[in-house]
Amino acid sequence: MLRSFLIYLSKAGWAQRMVTGWKLAWMTASRFVAGESILDAIRAIQELNDKGILATFDQLGEHTTTAEEATQSAEGILAILDEIDKTGVKSNVSIKLTQIGMGLDDSLCCENLIRILNRAKEYKNFVRIDMEDSPYTATTIELLNCALDSGFDGQSVGLVVQSYLYRTEEDTRKLLERGVRFRLVKGAYQEPPEQAYPKKADVDANFDLLSKILIDAAFAARSPAISEDGRIPPLPAIATHDEKRIDFARQYAEKIGLPKKALEFQMLYGIRRDLQEQLAAEGYPVRVYVPFGTHWYPYFMRRLAERPANIWFFVSNFFRK
Ligand SMILES: Cc1cc2nc3c(=O)[nH]c(=O)nc-3n(C[C@H](O)[C@H](O)[C@H](O)COP(=O)(O)OP(=O)(O)OC[C@H]3O[C@@H](n4cnc5c(N)ncnc54)[C@H](O)[C@@H]3O)c2cc1C
Repeated sequence: MLRSFLIYLSKAGWAQRMVTGWKLAWMTASRFVAGESILDAIRAIQELNDKGILATFDQLGEHTTTAEEATQSAEGILAILDEIDKTGVKSNVSIKLTQIGMGLDDSLCCENLIRILNRAKEYKNFVRIDMEDSPYTATTIELLNCALDSGFDGQSVGLVVQSYLYRTEEDTRKLLERGVRFRLVKGAYQEPPEQAYPKKADVDANFDLLSKILIDAAFAARSPAISEDGRIPPLPAIATHDEKRIDFARQYAEKIGLPKKALEFQMLYGIRRDLQEQLAAEGYPVRVYVPFGTHWYPYFMRRLAERPANIWFFVSNFFRK
Protein backbone atom coordinates (compact mmCIF):
# COMPACT_ATOMS: atom_id res chain seq x y z
CA MET A 1 0.00 0.00 0.00
CA LEU A 2 2.66 2.49 1.16
CA ARG A 3 5.02 1.19 -1.53
CA SER A 4 2.37 1.75 -4.24
CA PHE A 5 1.70 5.27 -2.96
CA LEU A 6 5.39 6.19 -2.99
CA ILE A 7 5.82 4.78 -6.48
CA TYR A 8 2.76 6.79 -7.57
CA LEU A 9 4.39 9.91 -6.04
CA SER A 10 7.65 9.14 -7.89
CA LYS A 11 5.76 9.90 -11.14
CA ALA A 12 3.61 12.81 -9.92
CA GLY A 13 4.82 16.20 -11.18
CA TRP A 14 3.17 18.12 -8.32
CA ALA A 15 4.93 15.96 -5.70
CA GLN A 16 8.25 16.33 -7.53
CA ARG A 17 7.93 20.14 -7.53
CA MET A 18 7.10 20.14 -3.83
CA VAL A 19 9.76 17.65 -2.65
CA THR A 20 12.64 18.93 -4.76
CA GLY A 21 12.02 22.40 -3.33
CA TRP A 22 12.99 21.16 0.15
CA LYS A 23 16.62 21.36 1.07
CA LEU A 24 16.06 18.54 3.54
CA ALA A 25 14.81 16.23 0.81
CA TRP A 26 18.14 16.64 -0.99
CA MET A 27 19.98 16.07 2.30
CA THR A 28 18.15 12.75 2.67
CA ALA A 29 18.46 11.84 -1.01
CA SER A 30 22.21 12.43 -0.90
CA ARG A 31 22.54 9.22 1.10
CA PHE A 32 21.66 7.44 -2.18
CA VAL A 33 23.05 9.92 -4.75
CA ALA A 34 26.76 10.69 -5.11
CA GLY A 35 26.26 14.37 -5.94
CA GLU A 36 25.11 16.65 -8.72
CA SER A 37 28.17 16.62 -11.01
CA ILE A 38 30.29 14.00 -12.80
CA LEU A 39 33.20 15.00 -10.59
CA ASP A 40 31.19 14.26 -7.44
CA ALA A 41 30.52 10.79 -8.83
CA ILE A 42 34.19 10.30 -9.80
CA ARG A 43 35.19 11.12 -6.21
CA ALA A 44 32.66 8.63 -4.82
CA ILE A 45 33.88 5.97 -7.26
CA GLN A 46 37.52 6.58 -6.35
CA GLU A 47 36.61 5.98 -2.69
CA LEU A 48 34.88 2.73 -3.63
CA ASN A 49 37.80 1.64 -5.83
CA ASP A 50 40.16 2.26 -2.91
CA LYS A 51 38.16 -0.35 -0.98
CA GLY A 52 38.39 -2.85 -3.85
CA ILE A 53 34.85 -2.13 -5.05
CA LEU A 54 33.93 -1.43 -8.68
CA ALA A 55 31.25 0.92 -9.92
CA THR A 56 28.73 1.60 -12.60
CA PHE A 57 27.95 5.24 -13.33
CA ASP A 58 24.34 6.35 -13.64
CA GLN A 59 23.40 9.77 -14.96
CA LEU A 60 20.03 10.33 -13.29
CA GLY A 61 17.06 11.16 -15.48
CA GLU A 62 14.27 9.32 -17.25
CA HIS A 63 11.38 9.98 -19.63
CA THR A 64 12.84 12.96 -21.46
CA THR A 65 10.15 14.87 -23.33
CA THR A 66 11.97 16.42 -26.29
CA ALA A 67 14.44 15.17 -28.89
CA GLU A 68 16.92 17.88 -27.81
CA GLU A 69 16.78 16.69 -24.20
CA ALA A 70 17.29 13.06 -25.28
CA THR A 71 20.32 13.99 -27.38
CA GLN A 72 21.71 16.15 -24.60
CA SER A 73 21.38 13.20 -22.21
CA ALA A 74 23.25 10.98 -24.67
CA GLU A 75 26.01 13.64 -24.80
CA GLY A 76 26.18 13.48 -21.02
CA ILE A 77 26.72 9.71 -21.17
CA LEU A 78 29.48 10.14 -23.78
CA ALA A 79 31.13 12.62 -21.40
CA ILE A 80 30.99 10.03 -18.61
CA LEU A 81 32.76 7.48 -20.81
CA ASP A 82 35.43 10.10 -21.60
CA GLU A 83 35.84 10.90 -17.91
CA ILE A 84 36.19 7.23 -16.93
CA ASP A 85 38.93 6.87 -19.52
CA LYS A 86 40.64 10.09 -18.43
CA THR A 87 40.64 9.30 -14.71
CA GLY A 88 41.12 5.53 -15.01
CA VAL A 89 38.42 4.73 -12.42
CA LYS A 90 37.17 1.16 -12.36
CA SER A 91 33.69 1.75 -13.64
CA ASN A 92 31.37 1.03 -16.48
CA VAL A 93 28.09 2.82 -17.30
CA SER A 94 24.39 2.12 -16.77
CA ILE A 95 21.79 3.86 -18.89
CA LYS A 96 18.02 4.24 -18.98
CA LEU A 97 16.66 4.17 -22.51
CA THR A 98 13.75 6.54 -21.73
CA GLN A 99 16.45 9.11 -20.93
CA ILE A 100 17.84 8.96 -24.47
CA GLY A 101 14.56 8.85 -26.38
CA MET A 102 12.71 5.53 -25.86
CA GLY A 103 8.97 6.17 -25.83
CA LEU A 104 9.49 9.57 -27.46
CA ASP A 105 11.16 8.50 -30.71
CA ASP A 106 12.51 4.95 -30.68
CA SER A 107 14.63 5.47 -33.80
CA LEU A 108 16.32 8.47 -32.16
CA CYS A 109 16.86 6.32 -29.08
CA CYS A 110 18.49 3.64 -31.23
CA GLU A 111 20.79 6.25 -32.83
CA ASN A 112 21.76 7.58 -29.41
CA LEU A 113 22.34 4.05 -28.10
CA ILE A 114 24.61 3.19 -31.04
CA ARG A 115 26.62 6.41 -30.50
CA ILE A 116 27.09 5.52 -26.84
CA LEU A 117 28.08 1.92 -27.64
CA ASN A 118 30.59 3.09 -30.27
CA ARG A 119 32.25 5.39 -27.73
CA ALA A 120 32.27 2.63 -25.09
CA LYS A 121 33.82 0.24 -27.59
CA GLU A 122 36.57 2.75 -28.36
CA TYR A 123 37.49 2.68 -24.66
CA LYS A 124 36.84 -1.08 -24.25
CA ASN A 125 34.13 -0.22 -21.77
CA PHE A 126 30.72 -1.75 -21.14
CA VAL A 127 27.20 -0.31 -21.11
CA ARG A 128 24.41 -1.87 -19.07
CA ILE A 129 20.85 -1.10 -20.11
CA ASP A 130 18.66 -0.67 -17.02
CA MET A 131 15.17 -2.14 -17.17
CA GLU A 132 12.33 0.30 -16.59
CA ASP A 133 8.63 -0.44 -16.03
CA SER A 134 6.73 -3.05 -18.01
CA PRO A 135 5.27 -0.80 -20.77
CA TYR A 136 8.92 -0.48 -21.90
CA THR A 137 10.15 -4.08 -21.47
CA ALA A 138 9.51 -5.26 -25.03
CA THR A 139 10.94 -2.09 -26.63
CA THR A 140 14.01 -2.22 -24.39
CA ILE A 141 14.69 -5.77 -25.59
CA GLU A 142 14.05 -4.76 -29.22
CA LEU A 143 16.57 -1.92 -28.90
CA LEU A 144 19.11 -4.27 -27.34
CA ASN A 145 18.55 -6.71 -30.21
CA CYS A 146 18.99 -3.82 -32.65
CA ALA A 147 22.40 -3.07 -31.04
CA LEU A 148 23.38 -6.75 -31.24
CA ASP A 149 22.29 -6.85 -34.91
CA SER A 150 24.50 -3.80 -35.54
CA GLY A 151 27.58 -5.75 -34.47
CA PHE A 152 27.88 -5.07 -30.72
CA ASP A 153 28.31 -8.13 -28.53
CA GLY A 154 27.94 -9.17 -24.90
CA GLN A 155 31.31 -7.59 -24.07
CA SER A 156 29.95 -4.16 -25.03
CA VAL A 157 26.33 -4.16 -23.95
CA GLY A 158 24.29 -5.96 -21.31
CA LEU A 159 20.79 -5.92 -19.88
CA VAL A 160 18.94 -5.84 -16.57
CA VAL A 161 16.18 -8.41 -15.96
CA GLN A 162 13.58 -8.29 -13.19
CA SER A 163 12.49 -11.35 -11.23
CA TYR A 164 9.03 -9.91 -10.53
CA LEU A 165 7.95 -10.18 -14.19
CA TYR A 166 6.42 -13.45 -15.43
CA ARG A 167 8.04 -13.00 -18.84
CA THR A 168 11.62 -12.69 -17.57
CA GLU A 169 12.61 -16.37 -17.65
CA GLU A 170 11.71 -16.66 -21.32
CA ASP A 171 13.36 -13.33 -22.21
CA THR A 172 16.51 -14.35 -20.37
CA ARG A 173 16.77 -17.75 -22.02
CA LYS A 174 16.38 -16.19 -25.49
CA LEU A 175 18.96 -13.47 -24.87
CA LEU A 176 21.45 -15.92 -23.37
CA GLU A 177 21.60 -17.49 -26.83
CA ARG A 178 22.92 -14.13 -28.09
CA GLY A 179 25.71 -13.98 -25.49
CA VAL A 180 24.12 -11.23 -23.40
CA ARG A 181 25.44 -10.56 -19.87
CA PHE A 182 22.82 -9.86 -17.25
CA ARG A 183 22.20 -7.93 -14.09
CA LEU A 184 19.44 -9.68 -12.15
CA VAL A 185 17.22 -7.52 -9.91
CA LYS A 186 13.85 -7.99 -8.21
CA GLY A 187 12.28 -4.91 -9.89
CA ALA A 188 11.61 -1.44 -8.54
CA TYR A 189 8.33 -0.33 -10.17
CA GLN A 190 4.64 -0.82 -9.48
CA GLU A 191 3.38 -3.57 -11.79
CA PRO A 192 -0.10 -5.04 -12.30
CA PRO A 193 -0.75 -8.70 -11.31
CA GLU A 194 -1.21 -9.56 -15.00
CA GLN A 195 2.49 -8.78 -15.55
CA ALA A 196 4.25 -9.45 -12.26
CA TYR A 197 4.14 -11.69 -9.19
CA PRO A 198 2.21 -9.78 -6.52
CA LYS A 199 3.76 -11.77 -3.65
CA LYS A 200 7.30 -11.13 -2.43
CA ALA A 201 7.88 -14.85 -1.80
CA ASP A 202 7.25 -15.57 -5.50
CA VAL A 203 9.53 -12.72 -6.59
CA ASP A 204 12.27 -14.16 -4.35
CA ALA A 205 11.75 -17.73 -5.59
CA ASN A 206 11.95 -16.54 -9.20
CA PHE A 207 15.08 -14.56 -8.34
CA ASP A 208 16.78 -17.77 -7.16
CA LEU A 209 15.59 -19.66 -10.23
CA LEU A 210 16.98 -16.93 -12.53
CA SER A 211 20.26 -16.86 -10.56
CA LYS A 212 20.58 -20.58 -11.18
CA ILE A 213 19.85 -20.18 -14.91
CA LEU A 214 22.50 -17.44 -15.22
CA ILE A 215 25.12 -19.32 -13.17
CA ASP A 216 24.55 -22.49 -15.20
CA ALA A 217 24.88 -20.45 -18.41
CA ALA A 218 28.12 -18.89 -17.18
CA PHE A 219 29.53 -22.31 -16.35
CA ALA A 220 28.46 -23.68 -19.76
CA ALA A 221 30.18 -20.68 -21.43
CA ARG A 222 33.45 -21.67 -19.66
CA SER A 223 33.07 -19.16 -16.84
CA PRO A 224 33.96 -15.82 -18.47
CA ALA A 225 35.67 -13.80 -15.75
CA ILE A 226 35.46 -10.08 -15.07
CA SER A 227 38.01 -8.12 -17.13
CA GLU A 228 41.32 -7.14 -15.47
CA ASP A 229 40.34 -3.46 -15.42
CA GLY A 230 36.97 -4.30 -13.82
CA ARG A 231 34.95 -2.74 -16.62
CA ILE A 232 33.54 -5.75 -18.47
CA PRO A 233 31.49 -7.80 -16.01
CA PRO A 234 31.12 -11.57 -15.92
CA LEU A 235 27.91 -13.11 -17.32
CA PRO A 236 25.82 -13.01 -14.10
CA ALA A 237 25.59 -9.94 -11.90
CA ILE A 238 23.37 -10.64 -8.90
CA ALA A 239 22.05 -7.24 -7.82
CA THR A 240 20.36 -7.30 -4.44
CA HIS A 241 20.85 -6.44 -0.78
CA ASP A 242 18.91 -9.53 0.26
CA GLU A 243 21.38 -11.82 2.02
CA LYS A 244 19.29 -14.94 1.37
CA ARG A 245 19.39 -14.33 -2.38
CA ILE A 246 23.13 -13.62 -2.23
CA ASP A 247 23.77 -16.80 -0.23
CA PHE A 248 21.74 -18.87 -2.66
CA ALA A 249 23.74 -17.61 -5.65
CA ARG A 250 27.06 -17.95 -3.86
CA GLN A 251 26.36 -21.49 -2.68
CA TYR A 252 25.01 -22.67 -6.01
CA ALA A 253 28.01 -21.24 -7.89
CA GLU A 254 30.36 -22.92 -5.42
CA LYS A 255 28.51 -26.23 -5.77
CA ILE A 256 28.90 -26.36 -9.55
CA GLY A 257 32.45 -24.95 -9.48
CA LEU A 258 31.96 -21.49 -10.98
CA PRO A 259 35.02 -19.41 -10.01
CA LYS A 260 34.46 -16.31 -7.87
CA LYS A 261 35.70 -13.99 -10.63
CA ALA A 262 32.89 -15.27 -12.89
CA LEU A 263 30.12 -14.11 -10.55
CA GLU A 264 29.52 -10.45 -9.72
CA PHE A 265 27.43 -8.95 -6.93
CA GLN A 266 25.96 -5.48 -7.29
CA MET A 267 24.38 -3.08 -4.80
CA LEU A 268 23.15 0.48 -4.76
CA TYR A 269 25.21 3.44 -3.57
CA GLY A 270 24.64 4.07 0.13
CA ILE A 271 22.98 0.72 0.87
CA ARG A 272 24.60 -2.12 2.84
CA ARG A 273 28.18 -0.86 2.62
CA ASP A 274 29.13 -3.55 5.16
CA LEU A 275 27.93 -6.31 2.86
CA GLN A 276 29.61 -4.72 -0.16
CA GLU A 277 32.96 -4.74 1.64
CA GLN A 278 32.47 -8.24 3.03
CA LEU A 279 31.80 -9.78 -0.40
CA ALA A 280 34.72 -7.89 -1.95
CA ALA A 281 37.02 -9.16 0.84
CA GLU A 282 35.86 -12.70 0.07
CA GLY A 283 37.17 -12.27 -3.48
CA TYR A 284 33.96 -11.65 -5.47
CA PRO A 285 33.73 -8.74 -7.88
CA VAL A 286 31.38 -6.23 -6.23
CA ARG A 287 30.00 -3.31 -8.20
CA VAL A 288 28.10 -0.35 -6.79
CA TYR A 289 25.56 1.59 -8.84
CA VAL A 290 26.54 5.24 -8.44
CA PRO A 291 23.87 7.74 -9.51
CA PHE A 292 24.56 11.44 -9.85
CA GLY A 293 22.83 14.49 -11.24
CA THR A 294 20.04 16.91 -10.55
CA HIS A 295 17.16 14.60 -11.65
CA TRP A 296 17.25 12.59 -8.44
CA TYR A 297 13.57 12.71 -7.44
CA PRO A 298 12.10 9.49 -9.01
CA TYR A 299 15.21 7.48 -8.09
CA PHE A 300 15.00 8.72 -4.50
CA MET A 301 11.28 7.93 -4.23
CA ARG A 302 11.87 4.36 -5.44
CA ARG A 303 14.51 3.95 -2.71
CA LEU A 304 12.00 5.19 -0.12
CA ALA A 305 9.41 2.76 -1.48
CA GLU A 306 11.78 -0.18 -1.07
CA ARG A 307 12.23 0.34 2.64
CA PRO A 308 9.67 2.17 4.79
CA ALA A 309 12.37 2.82 7.43
CA ASN A 310 13.94 5.25 4.92
CA ILE A 311 10.84 7.42 5.24
CA TRP A 312 11.42 7.79 8.97
CA PHE A 313 14.98 8.82 8.22
CA PHE A 314 13.56 11.50 5.90
CA VAL A 315 10.83 12.61 8.33
CA SER A 316 13.20 12.75 11.31
CA ASN A 317 15.58 14.95 9.29
CA PHE A 318 12.62 17.17 8.46
CA PHE A 319 11.68 17.71 12.10
CA ARG A 320 15.28 18.15 13.24
CA LYS A 321 15.55 21.46 11.40
C1 LIG B 1 22.93 -2.44 -8.81
C2 LIG B 1 21.44 -2.37 -8.89
C3 LIG B 1 20.84 -1.95 -10.07
C4 LIG B 1 19.45 -1.93 -10.19
N1 LIG B 1 18.87 -1.68 -11.40
C5 LIG B 1 17.53 -1.81 -11.52
C6 LIG B 1 16.88 -1.72 -12.79
O1 LIG B 1 17.52 -1.51 -13.83
N2 LIG B 1 15.54 -1.87 -12.84
C7 LIG B 1 14.77 -2.11 -11.72
O2 LIG B 1 13.56 -2.28 -11.83
N3 LIG B 1 15.35 -2.19 -10.51
C8 LIG B 1 16.69 -2.05 -10.38
N4 LIG B 1 17.28 -2.16 -9.14
C9 LIG B 1 16.42 -2.12 -7.92
C10 LIG B 1 15.89 -3.49 -7.54
O3 LIG B 1 14.92 -3.90 -8.46
C11 LIG B 1 15.28 -3.46 -6.13
O4 LIG B 1 14.20 -2.57 -6.11
C12 LIG B 1 16.25 -3.06 -5.02
O5 LIG B 1 17.49 -3.65 -5.21
C13 LIG B 1 15.72 -3.49 -3.62
O6 LIG B 1 15.49 -4.86 -3.59
P1 LIG B 1 16.46 -5.94 -2.93
O7 LIG B 1 16.83 -6.90 -4.00
O8 LIG B 1 17.60 -5.33 -2.25
O9 LIG B 1 15.54 -6.78 -1.96
P2 LIG B 1 14.53 -6.36 -0.81
O10 LIG B 1 13.85 -7.62 -0.42
O11 LIG B 1 13.70 -5.21 -1.24
O12 LIG B 1 15.49 -5.86 0.34
C14 LIG B 1 16.34 -6.73 1.07
C15 LIG B 1 17.02 -5.92 2.15
O13 LIG B 1 17.90 -4.96 1.56
C16 LIG B 1 17.88 -3.73 2.25
N5 LIG B 1 17.33 -2.69 1.35
C17 LIG B 1 16.72 -2.88 0.17
N6 LIG B 1 16.38 -1.69 -0.39
C18 LIG B 1 16.80 -0.75 0.47
C19 LIG B 1 16.74 0.68 0.44
N7 LIG B 1 16.18 1.36 -0.56
N8 LIG B 1 17.27 1.34 1.50
C20 LIG B 1 17.85 0.69 2.53
N9 LIG B 1 17.93 -0.66 2.60
C21 LIG B 1 17.41 -1.37 1.58
C22 LIG B 1 16.99 -3.94 3.45
O14 LIG B 1 17.79 -4.36 4.51
C23 LIG B 1 16.07 -5.06 3.00
O15 LIG B 1 15.54 -5.78 4.06
C24 LIG B 1 18.65 -2.23 -9.03
C25 LIG B 1 19.26 -2.65 -7.85
C26 LIG B 1 20.63 -2.74 -7.77
C27 LIG B 1 21.24 -3.24 -6.50
